[in-house]
Amino acid sequence: MEREEKLQGLAAPLLAWYEANKRDLPWRENNDPYRVWVSEIMLQQTRVEAAREHYIRFLQALPAVEALAACPEEKLLKLWEGLGYYSRAKNMQKAAKEIVARGGFPQTAAELASLPGVGEYTAGAIASIAFGQPSPAVDGNVVRVLARLLGDAEAQDVLRKRYFAELAPAYPQGRCSDFTQGLMELGALVCTPASPRCLLCPLQDMCATKSDALPAKREKPARRETEMTVFLFTDGRGIWLRRREGGVLSGMTEFFNIEGALPLPEAENYLRGAGLTEFTLRRAGTHRHVFTHLVWQMTAYAAETGQALSSLPAFSSLRYYTKEEAKERVSLPSAFRWCMDRL
Ligand code: SF4
Repeated sequence: MEREEKLQGLAAPLLAWYEANKRDLPWRENNDPYRVWVSEIMLQQTRVEAAREHYIRFLQALPAVEALAACPEEKLLKLWEGLGYYSRAKNMQKAAKEIVARGGFPQTAAELASLPGVGEYTAGAIASIAFGQPSPAVDGNVVRVLARLLGDAEAQDVLRKRYFAELAPAYPQGRCSDFTQGLMELGALVCTPASPRCLLCPLQDMCATKSDALPAKREKPARRETEMTVFLFTDGRGIWLRRREGGVLSGMTEFFNIEGALPLPEAENYLRGAGLTEFTLRRAGTHRHVFTHLVWQMTAYAAETGQALSSLPAFSSLRYYTKEEAKERVSLPSAFRWCMDRL
């Protein structure tokens, strides 16, 4: 079967399979563009099962784009807690403000892609799922299914671009929403990264690969490692935190930290040098936190003190919270959340 013929022949078996096998997921209740958008952003780095609870909680708190646009940042980040990549939540809010200002969602992929944080994939997903446009949404799942189906051995980035162009004419009129979701669902349930379930696949007859031999594996970039010493300042009742300025997690809340892994005596010297005179310091543990391109090797010390930290220049950016306030209002990224149990 020729390439074009295969792409044109995809819709019928895929849609029949999707009808019979689609999972009951909270974002599939209806095709409201706001709901589709929130789910697509959440699912970019989070598995479906983990995203489900977050999604329900988020939609209960912010049921419409107007509510997202007006949400205080602290509350928004708290709602996003556990999903990571906080810049996504911030970009969603920027985009929500634009959507409200223009009186509603744009409906084409090109216009959607001009919103902050909305890439080609998300724009295609919203345009096809919510607005029924023949706009492909090619993510890793879709690249995998098509590479195997068509026998394409090129690099995944090359294929992604190619499929955006090739897939558009294969969209069936009136079923664009289900076509996008069907491809994603097939990639998630049947054509999985390892051990695809080819015997259950509706595309088996036309598939060139019928195995996990494709797509070509990506070479993972080396991760840069940094060491960090974290001070968990407490007076026994509350804790001191600050806003992170610059670099990864910029704008997020963090415990005070400095570069390098200081042994206990050096950590004590550091605090004395910064003007802290009355304190006790104990080891609070180590933690390795892995980001996409970076690893933090963290060494933490719990530092108990009755001194007013914010009067010392080195610690002037710190803000005091009772432990309850910190739990309820502050969104700590997971790189620092483990520290809360070590105080
Ligand atoms: S037959 Fe197997 S490899 Fe081919 S698309 Fe279906 S699940 Fe994927």
